[in-house]
Amino acid sequence: MTTNERHPIARLPEEWGPALAALGARVFAAKQVFSWIHRHGVTDPAAMSNLPARLRADLAASGLAPVCTAEHVHRSADQTRKIAVRLADGATVETVLLPAVSGPGSAAAIDADAAAVDDDEEDADGDAESAGPARIRVTQCISTQVGCAMGCVFCASGVAGLKRQLGPEEIVGQVLLGRSLLDEGEELRNVVYMGMGEPLHNYEATARSLRLLTHPDGGGLSTRRVTVSTSGLVPEIARLGQDFGGNIGLAISLHAADDDTRSALMPINRRYPLAELMAALRAYPLRKRRRITIEYTLVAGQNDDVAEAKRLSRLLRGLPVKINVIPMNPIEASTLGPPNEARVLAFQRELIAAGYTCFIRRRRGDDVAAACGQLVLLGAKPKVKGLRPGE
Ligand code: SAH
Ligand code: SF4
Repeated sequence: MTTNERHPIARLPEEWGPALAALGARVFAAKQVFSWIHRHGVTDPAAMSNLPARLRADLAASGLAPVCTAEHVHRSADQTRKIAVRLADGATVETVLLPAVSGPGSAAAIDADAAAVDDDEEDADGDAESAGPARIRVTQCISTQVGCAMGCVFCASGVAGLKRQLGPEEIVGQVLLGRSLLDEGEELRNVVYMGMGEPLHNYEATARSLRLLTHPDGGGLSTRRVTVSTSGLVPEIARLGQDFGGNIGLAISLHAADDDTRSALMPINRRYPLAELMAALRAYPLRKRRRITIEYTLVAGQNDDVAEAKRLSRLLRGLPVKINVIPMNPIEASTLGPPNEARVLAFQRELIAAGYTCFIRRRRGDDVAAACGQLVLLGAKPKVKGLRPGE
């Protein structure tokens, strides 16, 4: 794709030079335009106040315009905000703002954040605290596709099927929008690719969005605060590792430790079975002191046995991981559900006894259906029924 075919919001600063030259403008405005968009979140050229009026008009004529708007913002009691994002063609995706939970009992409360990136890693990386009043750290969860083709039986996005890919400008557009909707005193700290869709099934757009979000002239997100979650597309895991030198955080939706169970829950496992997936994880060029996040959604009667926890601990042996166990959030399209509390705790206990870091991630934003796997297409009809617990 040439620079001119690419949406202006998806251009890197070095691509703005030729694009501006083609408009007859001065190339040195490249950094200014890029930082208007990605640092200040301004996508309407009319508001780029330090640019000449002629250039602003030319930028608008060349297609620079906002790519999405907030159709609704649903705020839950715990301050989680689910934003229905309307795209130019009328499609909607969802993005979620998750402020860090603090106050009495905060250790447990932070564990409750299904998408949180652990601060201990940031500190281990020698992250300097900025001076000034403490700001509330917000994690944003973003979508990469309208629906998802992977068909995981416990997931509302999978049940909907894939409607279309998002462009890089639409992936980044969610972050620009999210940032504009932060409350006073909040700071966007982490971005997780855990919304609707499989990021690595839209590799080019995901990779470009990562470059845009982490560009030093942009919004200032550090690569170590950006995590891509995947159901396990093996070739693209290798590609991500190569393209970004292992700097991007990786989360793997594992959900089972044997091929039969995993294939029943996640059809992708038939294409890339566990042996191949584990080899890809071992080969990922992870930065020192970083760990791969293993996501394990507990589905009653399917993958929640202590014997499966034992298999999991053998499977992961020797890999630098932390495990997030997520009791399944019920979805309308399936009769599958979470196990009872005793089984959740027994599963966690087994992994902790085997020496793993293992948190139980409770759902947040429950009252606005913003929890993992509940990001549904508005009005989408379920295509398949899930298995019954125990089947
Ligand atoms: N497609 C990517 C990223 C989006 S899903 C992936 O699968 O990794 C984000 C996480 O939520 C994944 O671990 C997914 O398996 C999990 N998830 C999906 N549906 C869920 C549900 N109903 N309850 C709990 N977790 C769910
Ligand atoms: Fe797609 Fe992830 Fe949902 Fe599976 S869990 S259907 S890969 S969004």
